[in-house]
Amino acid sequence: MSTILRGLLAVVVLAAGVGMSARLLLTDVPPATDTQAPSTLALAPLSLGNPAAAAALKVRHPDTPLGQVSIPGIPPSYGYPLRVAAGDTLAGLLVGAGVSRDEAHGAVTALGKLFDARRIRPGQDITVRFRPAPDGARDDLFLGFTLDVDYRRRIAVARTAADGFRASEEERALSRSLARAAGTIEANLFDDATAAGVPAAVLVAVVRAYSWDVDFQRAIRRGDRFEILFERFHDETGALVHAGGFVFADLALSGEHHPIYRHHTKDGLTDYFDPRGHSARKALLLTPIDGARLSSRYGKRRHPILGYTKMHRGLDFAAASGTPIYAGGDGTIEVAGTNGAYGRYIRIRHNATYSTAYGHMRRFARGMRRGKRVKQGQVIGYVGTTGRSTGPHLHYEILSGGRQVNPLKVKMPSGRKLKGAELARFQETRSRIKSELAALATNTDFAQGD
Ligand SMILES: [Zn+2]
Repeated sequence: MSTILRGLLAVVVLAAGVGMSARLLLTDVPPATDTQAPSTLALAPLSLGNPAAAAALKVRHPDTPLGQVSIPGIPPSYGYPLRVAAGDTLAGLLVGAGVSRDEAHGAVTALGKLFDARRIRPGQDITVRFRPAPDGARDDLFLGFTLDVDYRRRIAVARTAADGFRASEEERALSRSLARAAGTIEANLFDDATAAGVPAAVLVAVVRAYSWDVDFQRAIRRGDRFEILFERFHDETGALVHAGGFVFADLALSGEHHPIYRHHTKDGLTDYFDPRGHSARKALLLTPIDGARLSSRYGKRRHPILGYTKMHRGLDFAAASGTPIYAGGDGTIEVAGTNGAYGRYIRIRHNATYSTAYGHMRRFARGMRRGKRVKQGQVIGYVGTTGRSTGPHLHYEILSGGRQVNPLKVKMPSGRKLKGAELARFQETRSRIKSELAALATNTDFAQGD
């Protein structure tokens, strides 16, 4: 194949959209062969400045370098991407590209069977395809368009033989590879892991998975180490289309390792587990006290002291004065002091989302102050009746994003511990991940920490 032809084909493919698959674009195109090259060369208007061919050139879209290029042996159809901008509608984009209103409407209606056109987002590319009119005088025939719904799913809307449009969905053939990144923390986990090649989306997932165990604002020190094994998905052209979740991570904090492994359980849950099969995401205790009676639920109630109906944003547990109160989960004490109607009050921050609060305490356990790390089940104080209270009880709140939620309704992590056959399956997952890690440990394109 001649260099010019090859170059022209490259332009066609490029114009059809970065990251799009060449196979998909050229499906109805016979492969160009060397025997066709000479005639092609003579007619390549942009390359050779052939005036007759240049006159036939009709630019269909101002942003694309390629308009209608009718060259024997070269694609009977061509495509290019339309980038969605804020406020665009799909029909409007198609009409702007020269599609008639009727056909744009027909194509968008066909798409609607699989995808709501209102869900297109700014920055997304819609690849439109046309077949050049043979005489160059009439409008090119609109063949349809493709839309990548996410990195894996693509919807194609194509003209049917009956001149209607039909939508079909395909799963893109992606190849998955694993990448390993490891390093030492010099500044902070985000900067150092990014420098080691960990994509931001992967890092967010790692931080989220660890958020029940690690206080990222305090626990990370210079010299701590990280190791992350994550997935990458490439399309048929080799372009990276998605850096997915991670399958393994380990944080070595002050020399102590915290490895977690991704595992799909038989009942359909995907979660991260430590080597013993305990979920990295911990449930909060719903009853952070022993032998107590739930005396008031979350919701509207007539307030026993104020006398009018008021929202009760927690759970009350009646118990004898002095009964120990446990931390509902691992975390850091954010508030420990007297807090108005709550009386003696402690609030624990568990992660970026959840906190728990404890009111009316008689006293705090030794050492409970702001900034103190506590473990789930650790005694933080004792039942009392300080503040606005009619008798000894614990007022317990779960806060999500700083607002009280109904503890009995909030969807919390399971805090699951794998057992029996599932634990055995997990140990198989774990040994497979360990061998994948070992294979990458000596052959990696990322900077190593040591
Ligand atoms: Zn209460």
